[in-house]
Amino acid sequence: MARKGNKVQKSRSEINQQKKTERLLLAVLVQNTGSEMPIPCSFCKTEKRTCKVLSSKASRCSECIRRKCACNALTPLADQWDEEMPRASDLEALEEEIKKAAAAEELAVEKQREAFEEMVFQKRKQKELSARRLALAERGLRYLDELDALEAKEAEATFGPVASPGVIFDFPSPSASFLEALGAGGETPQAAQGN
Ligand SMILES: [Zn+2]
Ligand SMILES: [Zn+2]
Repeated sequence: MARKGNKVQKSRSEINQQKKTERLLLAVLVQNTGSEMPIPCSFCKTEKRTCKVLSSKASRCSECIRRKCACNALTPLADQWDEEMPRASDLEALEEEIKKAAAAEELAVEKQREAFEEMVFQKRKQKELSARRLALAERGLRYLDELDALEAKEAEATFGPVASPGVIFDFPSPSASFLEALGAGGETPQAAQGN
């Protein structure tokens, strides 16, 4: 039992030693290959050390790895604001982003307005074109009517009056005796006596 206990303790200390070695190696690696943070973590700031981190996903700087303490070198901007005065450049950058978003929104609204105006314009154009088509068709019909009338007149001039529907006296001329019976005398009620 005791042996077993010693064995466990030994292995624990071994593990601790191994961890310590690993930590130091890691610290050296970060120290040599990491990039320096423009704003050092609280520890490096206080101790005036060079604060270096391996990547943007690293959780600790080289010094904090070595010291085995929590590091705030890479805490997000929002969290940093809790501890530090906001930098003017951060505010300016945000101001710029807000302006850009507002401008983009304005542009989108303008485009939407233009699209709406275009739609209204095209609708009106369709209406106007339809009206013109109708007017053109009506003019064509009128022209046809005039042409027909002219042709009829020419035919009449050439071949004499032509019976046409709509003329009341569209039947054979009444006989003289029939007219006498009516007491109309010699007058013949002929409508279109060609002139
Ligand atoms: Zn640091
Ligand atoms: Zn740190």
